[in-house]
Amino acid sequence: ATDVDKINPDYVRSFQVEKTLMPCTWVVIRIDGCHFHRFSEVHAFEKPNDEHALNLMNSCAVAVMEKLPDLVFSYGVSDEYSFVLKRYSQIYGRTASGMVSAIVSLFSSLYVMKWREFFPHKELKYPPSFDGRAVCYPSDEVLRDYLAWRQVDCHINNQYNTCFWELVKSGKSKSEAQACLKGTQTQEKELLLHSRFNISYNELPLMFRQGSSAFWDKKDATTGDKNPDACCERKIVVVHSNIIERSFWEDHPWILD
Ligand code: ATP
Ligand code: ATP
Ligand code: MG
Ligand code: MG
Ligand code: MG
Ligand code: MG
Repeated sequence: ATDVDKINPDYVRSFQVEKTLMPCTWVVIRIDGCHFHRFSEVHAFEKPNDEHALNLMNSCAVAVMEKLPDLVFSYGVSDEYSFVLKRYSQIYGRTASGMVSAIVSLFSSLYVMKWREFFPHKELKYPPSFDGRAVCYPSDEVLRDYLAWRQVDCHINNQYNTCFWELVKSGKSKSEAQACLKGTQTQEKELLLHSRFNISYNELPLMFRQGSSAFWDKKDATTGDKNPDACCERKIVVVHSNIIERSFWEDHPWILD
């Protein structure tokens, strides 16, 4: 039998080998709701976009950013959120498992805690969970490309889902609606929404079309004649802007500073 007192902790720990993420790169932790197709049905989310559910996601993301100040930006759509860590962050020894597990578990528990605030009349029927992964982006340009990709995805999915649910609400079955949209291009979908349902895609709420971006407000915002202490209190803002366009990043240069 092993003598417990003789076990060397350094020896046991030496099996925990994990490479750290590449230094000086932007680390993005993307979390995504597990089986939210079902979760959204069980909790009767409004289709295609339940704004309370989106606001709940945004509120959780802001709370995560407040807890982990190395997060400089986050972008969310549907049941997913991408968190960008500043380049030189050393949190959790820069290990993927440390960062991902911390963010995904914090986000999940916030989601449960805040549920009632956003759905006061809906019971949470079972515990939601999220998965997470970490990816490194070596330059500002590829990071912006990554975020642009998520926003393009938001647009494509939202346009499809808007058409799909309008067709379903007008009496088509889900498979008929699917068949109707198969192979259609962006412009055909826009036309369909307009001619059949009198909907101008560009007039739908910005949050649905652009997703949500959260970031720390400008450091040295002029506070005017307000409380002088207020200048030191930075806060996180949530906007629904086009982050594909370069101008967003030029207008907010401190985010990726
Ligand atoms: P996986 O576990 O692989 O992620 P999933 O069912 O979560 O599976 P996703 O591709 O992540 O699949 O899609 C999330 C689904 O959750 C959407 O298709 C949509 O049906 C639903 N959903 C998420 N957020 C909302 C929302 N705010 N309003 C309405 N439906 C939503
Ligand atoms: P980290 O966030 O890095 O995991 P940690 O403070 O959780 O830091 P661990 O090395 O994971 O540190 O150790 C967990 C500590 O939590 C233990 O040292 C012990 O003090 C406490 N702890 C964990 N489970 C119990 C328990 N069931 N009863 C009492 N104390 C516990
Ligand atoms: Mg998933
Ligand atoms: Mg998925
Ligand atoms: Mg999902
Ligand atoms: Mg998803």
